[in-house]
Amino acid sequence: MFSSGMLFVLAGPSGAGKTTLAHHLVGKKDETVFSVSTTTRASRGEEIHGKDYFFVNDDEFSSRVENSYFLEWAHVHGNRYGTEGAWVREQMAQGRSVILDIDVQGAVQIKEAMPSAVLIFVLPASRDALRNRLEHRNTDSDKTVEKRMKAAAGEVSFMGVFDYFVCNDVLEEAKSEVENIFLAESMRLRNIGWPVQALDYHKGYTDGLSFWKGKTVVVSSGPTREMIDDVRFVSNRSSGLMGVSMAEAFLAAGARVVLVSGPAFNMEPPGPVRLVKARSAGDMLKALREEVVHADLLVMAAAVSDFTPAFPASGKLKREEGEVSLTLAPTSDITRSLEASCPVLSFALEYGDGAVERARLKMKRKGAFAIFLNMGDTPNVGMETACNSGIVLFASSNKRIEIPFGSKKFVAFGIAASLGREMERSDHE
Ligand code: ADP
Ligand code: 5GP
Repeated sequence: MFSSGMLFVLAGPSGAGKTTLAHHLVGKKDETVFSVSTTTRASRGEEIHGKDYFFVNDDEFSSRVENSYFLEWAHVHGNRYGTEGAWVREQMAQGRSVILDIDVQGAVQIKEAMPSAVLIFVLPASRDALRNRLEHRNTDSDKTVEKRMKAAAGEVSFMGVFDYFVCNDVLEEAKSEVENIFLAESMRLRNIGWPVQALDYHKGYTDGLSFWKGKTVVVSSGPTREMIDDVRFVSNRSSGLMGVSMAEAFLAAGARVVLVSGPAFNMEPPGPVRLVKARSAGDMLKALREEVVHADLLVMAAAVSDFTPAFPASGKLKREEGEVSLTLAPTSDITRSLEASCPVLSFALEYGDGAVERARLKMKRKGAFAIFLNMGDTPNVGMETACNSGIVLFASSNKRIEIPFGSKKFVAFGIAASLGREMERSDHE
């Protein structure tokens, strides 16, 4: 099964040792590649275009910014530097991990765009050691070294955004620390799908998953926030875990996956999943409308709010001004409004007798080809839980597939596989 490429960001002040550590990692680990940045800085003579940097002029850089060419870019020490987005995503989609050696502003942008990226802050043991290294590198004038030393304080103030800190004192130790971080991250379950060793215990469970190889799957996830004023909102208990788990399952199957997520507790899909953030039900409809055009399947795991404040206030309502009444207007039904040309998987949370019949009616109302039914009265199932179980129902037949109790990730693999089996079957008819 597919193993997902990771995005590793080494950042810190100039002279900290990012380049040294980044190249060490690329040399040491298979399936890793170094991202060559684009810059408006002039070549330092011995530097090679395409190997050290892609050197471009100001106009060319600006036009690339306008065309959303960069995953991140920043002004650093008077020049502009950026990382090409399409190349990074392509490498990761092919299972290769990408190593970036960039400044802290770029690292912060990466965390926003790809929350599962691994951010490592590198710093020598002291300010003096940093100055020493800059001076001994022999690449910068005294004036430039001074400029970079001044900038270092500002850069250190961003460290709190990072996941790891590596003190680059003794180089060999720093190298092995970076390797260890890489090793641990590459063993994270979100990056390795469902291990084959575990499948041995559930033979046949993931049969059908391969149907999704090369397909495009759009997954909506999490709750939405409907604003009362600029600070308060109406929302629900959805954690986003089921949506992220569905994204992981389809990614592991080899699909291109887009996750359109409301502001969820969990919105860190594996790196190759393209994350589109939406806030309100209206935003989500707009984002999905753009994405479903290219989709082979839409998975509506989001718990979209059915209501939104009819008269949102701007600023912050003040308690001193007394009682406030809230009028809620219904939002539009996203699945129905979309009229997606691809098949849709809906989700239903039902309680008590007649749940299956009600779920079937919902599937029909939504025009979905399948629905995953959660029994709300089963303990530890549904919203705000780590686990799940349920039944997949199909519009075209009376077939029902029971998905046994397990982690949401396990359940997501079972759902994706049963949809794949159904698709394969209908393709053969
Ligand atoms: P950065 O990419 O962060 O600007 P470099 O990797 O170019 O930093 O390292 C700056 C200089 O310090 C280089 O000359 C490098 O060889 C040297 N260097 C890196 N790590 C160490 C270390 N642990 N001890 C001594 N010198 C180091
Ligand atoms: P230098 O000019 O010494 O090669 O690099 C100067 C600084 O620019 C370094 O801190 C380096 O990490 C940063 N940098 C290099 N490439 C990129 C990039 O693509 N994006 C960002 N944000 N910074 C970069």
